[in-house]
Parts: sequence; C-alpha cells; structure tokens
Amino acid sequence: MKIVVLKFGGTSVGTIERIKKVADIISNYIKKKYNVVVVSSAMSGVTNGLIKKSELISENFSNSEYDVLVSTGEQEACSLIAARLIHKGLKSRSWLSWQIPITTQGSHKHSKITQININNIIKYIKSGGIPIIAGFQGINNQERITTIGRGGSDASAIMLAKFLKAERCVIYTDVEGVYTTDPNKLKKAKKIKVISYEEMLEMASLGAKVMQPVSIQDARLNRIDIEVKSSFINKTGTLITKRSGIINNRIVTGISSTQNDSKVSLIGVRDKPGVAASIFKPLSQNSINVDMVVQNISANGKETDLTFTIKTEDLNKTKKIIQTNKNINFRKLLLTKDVSKISAIGVGMITTPGVTYRMFQALAKKKINIQVISTSEIKISVLIDKKYTKKAIVALHKEFKLDNAK
Ligand code: ADP
Ligand code: ASP
Ligand code: MG
Repeated sequence: MKIVVLKFGGTSVGTIERIKKVADIISNYIKKKYNVVVVSSAMSGVTNGLIKKSELISENFSNSEYDVLVSTGEQEACSLIAARLIHKGLKSRSWLSWQIPITTQGSHKHSKITQININNIIKYIKSGGIPIIAGFQGINNQERITTIGRGGSDASAIMLAKFLKAERCVIYTDVEGVYTTDPNKLKKAKKIKVISYEEMLEMASLGAKVMQPVSIQDARLNRIDIEVKSSFINKTGTLITKRSGIINNRIVTGISSTQNDSKVSLIGVRDKPGVAASIFKPLSQNSINVDMVVQNISANGKETDLTFTIKTEDLNKTKKIIQTNKNINFRKLLLTKDVSKISAIGVGMITTPGVTYRMFQALAKKKINIQVISTSEIKISVLIDKKYTKKAIVALHKEFKLDNAK
C-alpha cells in the first residue's frame, strides 16, 4: 500500500482558519487517491506557553511531568484537524502516542522513537480512514509519556514514514522550503531545490530551525526522501535526499546562525595533563553539551586560557559547576551571552581549497572579529559578537554567491 505521511508544523495549524486550510490540503490528497497519514504539532505558541507554566510552578519542574504537560498541545491540534475532516464528510480520527503505541527510549524531554506499532493504523487506512497522529510524543517502557525534543514532530513524521514504509514524507511549514539562509532574516535567501542529508543535518544542527536535526539523521539512516514545502501556498519545495543523486557545483550550500549560545572562558588554568578532562567531566555528567572549544598555547608553560561554548539555558548551571569544582584552579571565570555562531555549510568544500580563507577575509573586511573557530569536512563555524550576526550573514551570503544561487 502506497502511503504518504504529511506533517504540519505549529504555524500551519496556528489558527482555526489555518486548520481548515490544512484539512483542505489533506482532502486534496484523498481526492487524488493517496493513502494519507497525518502528523501534527501543537498550534504555534502553545508548547512555549506550557513550558512557561512549568517554570512558574517550579524551577526544578519534574522531567516526567514536563513531558505530560508539554505534549498536550498536540492532542488539541490533532482533534481539531480530525474533526474538521469529519465535518467535510471524510472518515478521520486522532491518535495519541500511547494509543498506537509509539515507543521511545532515553531520558524524558529528549527521548528517541524506537518502535511504532502500525497494525491498527494500517487497518484504519484500509477502512478508508485518515489517521491524525500526535507528533513530539511517545511512551517509554514504564508506560510514561515522553517527548522527543523541541521541534520533534519532524522526527515523529520521519519515523512513521519509516515504519509504514511510506513512499513520501512531506513536511508542511510556514516557508516554501529550505533556503540558503533563514528567509525571515535575509530577504535575498534563495530556495534550495535539492539538498543532501549531510548538508541539511549540518544546517539544522547549526541553527536552521526549519528541520529538527534528529529527524534528518533518522531520514538519512533509513533513506527516506523528505519534501519540505509551504502549507500557505502551493509551490514546489525542497527535496532532502541522498548525496549521490545530486549534481551541483556550489561550494557553499547554506549559511546558518545560532541565537542562544554563550561563551565560557577560564583564565589562568594550570597547563598540565588532565585539566581539560577535569573541567568537562562534571559538565557532561550534568548533560551539558559543550560545543566549540579552544585552548590557548601557554606562554610560560604553566598557565593557559580555555574557552568553550554552551547553550545559554545551561549558563547558570555551568557557572555553578565550575565554581564548585575542587579539581581545577583558575584565576578568572568570564561568561558572556552575547555571542553567535555563524556557519557556512557545503559538500563542495571537500574538493575546493581556500573556503576557510574566503570566509575569514569576508568577515575581516566587515571588521568582524572571530572569537572561536571550528571546522569539519563540510562546514566552517565561527563565533562572533552577536550584534554582527546579520552583517556576517549578509557578507558570507554574498561571498559564496548565494544571492544569485539557482
Ligand atoms: P514548523 O512550526 O512548521 O515546524 P519551524 O518554525 O520549526 O516551523 O521552522 C520554520 C522556520 O525555520 C521558518 O519560519 C524560518 O524562519 C526558519 N529557518 C531557519 N533557517 C532556515 C532555512 N535555512 N530555510 C528555511 N527556513 C529556515
Ligand atoms: N510542539 C513541539 C514544539 O514546539 C513539537 C514541534 O513543534 O515539532 O517543540
Ligand atoms: Mg519545527
């Protein structure tokens, strides 16, 4: 049976009018004889509102109750979509994760989908029904509700496509596809027709919110093609697929930026083996993700400075952990929230020398100072003062000829 999975994001179901529009999109697929499975996020703003409520109840809101709370937004949206389809004379019902079940593993807030029982869903489709499935949520082996990370409905859709062996997975969102950079930040951003999993994964991990990174990893492992398109206007979107099927001569495919990074510098750390490990061990034990790291060369062989970046939400926790760490000595601890990571991503870099130089020079020309650098085979990231974010994106977009990309 040929199935298409359609995922609708928060803004696509953001109002009653939008939900009616979504029901029209779904019924158009039905008219064309597709077997459709729908995954929905919560109406836009709802998940954020629930998180705010949790923060008002407690600074240390229980993780398991957090998942029960924040997953409720999807229930509302699914019911509204299903009921609108019923109103239009179609057969539909909503499905919550525990009713299927969608099984997850791992800790609350960041679980991973491992198994989906598709039997009843298939039966329902065969009976002419349209299942509307709540994204973002699952249940664990203790039968507790879990969530799979912010933006996780993308991963719900991909995993459903995997288990249902769907022929297509379409991610409906509020932009026309994946762009060379965030189109809401730069008007000159251009829609990308086809992009590889690897590049999309880097772009997403480095700040392109349009797709959740975990979902791209899942799609890559399972070779699921993804189409990203707008639920607002009917236009061809972006295809995310395997690298071998793509021909292009771009060096850089896209520019991403982050908004919520912070920089931590330890000045005057003793320069001896094991010190970096003593600093990072308690951070990892507290699930704090350390991103970019630089250690200066020690001028006198005794002391050095160590700088790294983390998510701003982890800043206070990090500060406490470092200040109470008895295994390290340092003279000064500097913390700053006003940094942004700008990245250029492209598989073309592998075969083209001089990309790093061009990136640094383009920023230097705009008098933007680079604080930290990190690179991989297909990306270069630099940490800069947050106030230059837009300027840097404009400069790099131009430097790598993305302004007139086709
Ligand atoms: P949804 O609610 O549909 O899941 P998101 O808000 O999660 O939508 O993602 C869509 C947003 O991603 C867009 O509105 C856009 O501002 C942002 N975005 C960031 N980088 C990019 C990019 N490179 N291409 C397209 N959109 C991007
Ligand atoms: N509603 C969830 C969130 O806001 C999941 C999603 O939108 O994909 O993170
Ligand atoms: Mg999203």
